[in-house]
Amino acid sequence: MAFDYDLYVIGGGSGGVRAARVAAATGAKVALAEEYRMGGTCVIRGCVPKKLMVFASTYPGQVEEARAYGWDAQIGDFSWDHFSGMMNAELDRLEGVYRRLLDGSDVEIHDGRAVLKDAHTVTINGSDYTAKHILVATGGHPVSPDIANAELGLSSNDIFKMDKLPKSVLIVGGGFIACEFACILHGLGVKVTQYYRGAQILRGFDDEARGLLAESMTHRGIDLHLGTNIVQMAPADADHRAVPVGDDAVGKQSKAPQHYTGPIWVKSTNGSEATFDHVIFATGRAPNTDGLGLEAVGVKTNRRGAIEVDDYSQTNIPSIYAIGDVTGRVELTPVAIREGMAFVDTVFNGKPTKVDHDLIPSAVFTQPELGTVGMTEEEARDAGPIDVYCTSFKPMQQAFAGSSERVLMKLIVCKDTRKVLGCHIVADHAGELIQMVGIAVKNGLTKEQFDATCAVHPTMSEELVTMKTPTRSA
Ligand code: NDP
Repeated sequence: MAFDYDLYVIGGGSGGVRAARVAAATGAKVALAEEYRMGGTCVIRGCVPKKLMVFASTYPGQVEEARAYGWDAQIGDFSWDHFSGMMNAELDRLEGVYRRLLDGSDVEIHDGRAVLKDAHTVTINGSDYTAKHILVATGGHPVSPDIANAELGLSSNDIFKMDKLPKSVLIVGGGFIACEFACILHGLGVKVTQYYRGAQILRGFDDEARGLLAESMTHRGIDLHLGTNIVQMAPADADHRAVPVGDDAVGKQSKAPQHYTGPIWVKSTNGSEATFDHVIFATGRAPNTDGLGLEAVGVKTNRRGAIEVDDYSQTNIPSIYAIGDVTGRVELTPVAIREGMAFVDTVFNGKPTKVDHDLIPSAVFTQPELGTVGMTEEEARDAGPIDVYCTSFKPMQQAFAGSSERVLMKLIVCKDTRKVLGCHIVADHAGELIQMVGIAVKNGLTKEQFDATCAVHPTMSEELVTMKTPTRSA
């Protein structure tokens, strides 16, 4: 059967764009559909604008530190208008780059929402196109808790589009996005309160690392409430009380007016009431699988709605593959890109390639940052005997400026093989550091091989090759 395309990609995020370009480079005829802006979550409403906001938010701290170093420095006011104008121009530029890359690779761009019609057909803008292979790379979206008036809250998507910087926010959640935005907005001068329902933020990360980070965030001025969640929210009046909306003031049946932008009244699980300019829900993300035609075509999804795939990113329908956040595996841009490349190797280069999801380094861009690769101490302890090498100290640059904040450098080492099983760093630039350590951990280097590497002095990370005696063993 003759198809219109060899490959039809649905979704113009990092994974879809890379797969489309690399497949086209093999000589395949490729089309890609995107319903919104080319670049997807990472470029348009995730990693890129978030990192720009991280940069913007660190300047007040740097200026304060500069004074301790003898500079007569004062920071003025922050102009959200100026910054967001620059940020949007940068996103437009990057979107243009993505489009030009696709054009230059001879990938046909279809602007619109593509839906699966059958195992080899998609429908978009009223037309059907057939393809030998279809790749679903539609990503995910933020989700809010199921409480009345939740629509009054913002998601991470909305933060980048705010007209002005709020004076106060409540951030709900304790994951990557919640912690990053708590630090960003605090750094920009917003009064930040954060509710996390669990005992400690960043569930799944090394306990000692997340403990130190939580301490640091609190010390810097983020009002972090653990074991706390939001139970009710409503528009607030001038006296900081809930405004009755609908038949019932704040109950389940109440309905907030659309496009409400005023202050929000919140009641929490501990019974306290407060008002905030915004409530930001950073309560997780869900895969973009609704209305894609998956059920009609018979593509299996899991309990969370993510597309089920095998090690080669193939779904139960042989002609349909899926990569990135829509598969709910590891929701990180570089992973989606690697899944896209492995897909192209498997399908277009005759080299069946499994995606390697083991030992992926990652960083939470809080202040300070948390960089991590491999097992946490808690995971490693369950897997076998370990030595833990750990040091926490005041880094030279900040200590000189009078700061009492500490950094953490931690290695988890297998007692039997001496391999470094995990590394956890809480420090400024931990994201940069963990990229390098990740190479060593991924390649199975031992503690002794770490130590055979000469220290770079004076740095914070020299501790990673100079910790001689285990702090504890388990
Ligand atoms: P996460 O899963 O990391 O965090 C979700 C948070 O919301 C958790 O703390 C969770 O609590 C809490 N939560 C969930 N449901 C509710 C609820 N009903 N009420 C209150 N709290 C709730 O999701 P994120 O959206 O922060 O990030 C999604 C993914 O995106 C990450 O896992 C990561 O892979 C990726 N990401 C990566 C970044 C990076 O590399 N720097 C930056 C941002 C995102 P609990 O722990 O109890 O479940």
